[in-house]
Amino acid sequence: MAVKVFHHLQDLKNWVRETRTAGKSIGLVPTMGALHAGHLSLVEKSLEKTDRTVVSIFVNPTQFGPQEDFAKYPRTLEKDLAALESVAGDREMVVLAPSATEMYPAGFETFIEVGGAAKPLEGSCRPGHFRGVATVVLKLFLLTECDVAFFGQKDFQQVQVIRQMVRDLNVPVEIGMCPIVREADGLAMSSRNRYLSPEARQRALALSQSLHQAKQHLRQGIREVSVLEAEMRKILESHPNHQVDYVAIVHPETLLPQSEKIVFPVAFLLAVRVDETRLIDNLLVESETEI
Ligand code: AMP
Repeated sequence: MAVKVFHHLQDLKNWVRETRTAGKSIGLVPTMGALHAGHLSLVEKSLEKTDRTVVSIFVNPTQFGPQEDFAKYPRTLEKDLAALESVAGDREMVVLAPSATEMYPAGFETFIEVGGAAKPLEGSCRPGHFRGVATVVLKLFLLTECDVAFFGQKDFQQVQVIRQMVRDLNVPVEIGMCPIVREADGLAMSSRNRYLSPEARQRALALSQSLHQAKQHLRQGIREVSVLEAEMRKILESHPNHQVDYVAIVHPETLLPQSEKIVFPVAFLLAVRVDETRLIDNLLVESETEI
């Protein structure tokens, strides 16, 4: 079955009405395109759990800061559609690929004011980022009338910000979080990995290696937050062209930093600039038995 592509919101709304009338459930996978296996794992989950899937492909201008990579962000719609066709097979999927003016027509001026989970880490490095994310995600929820929306653990703080919004505003959407998909050598898949030179791509392994080391250290019984953090930094800062934005050891729900000894569940979150490319990665350890 060919995947339908909607560029206009009205066409999507007609499809949603027909889907609702047919009594089918709707899954949503919001993306900015340049799809890789990480995105496709969310799509696969949605196809499995719901009757019909909407994949949105929209490079959302409101979540980029003025100095960020909005203009150069990869846009590969034809390739993305081919990848989605092959994942969908004969299952029902549509793609929403609207223009910026379709999503933000002249006169648009309402934004979601995000709460505490949006303040630290990505929120402080990228002011306004989560305001833009929450606003576009709520618009997509309303447009698609989805029952479930699927997000990646790769953007762990984003999931927490969206969960908070859904709780606070009584949004009737279930949030599914899918595991991080990695390259064979451990690098978390990201649309931004393509910015890396082959040499920087090798150095970027510092992120996953530092998380792997943290897990090893937990296994060895090390529980001092300061020791774990310092050891992670050593790996991340092993090259002069790596600039660490943060290494954070936090409670996964509140995102408040842990101090002294590790308490489970715990999340290790990091953001590092490898040359000019800003990469994020994380590790979630739910309980002591998991390590
Ligand atoms: P993006 O296109 O970067 O906005 O990502 C769209 C969705 O895909 C978000 O929910 C991301 O967390 C998720 N995602 C991106 N990279 C990965 C990955 N390597 N593994 C799992 N999910 C991912």
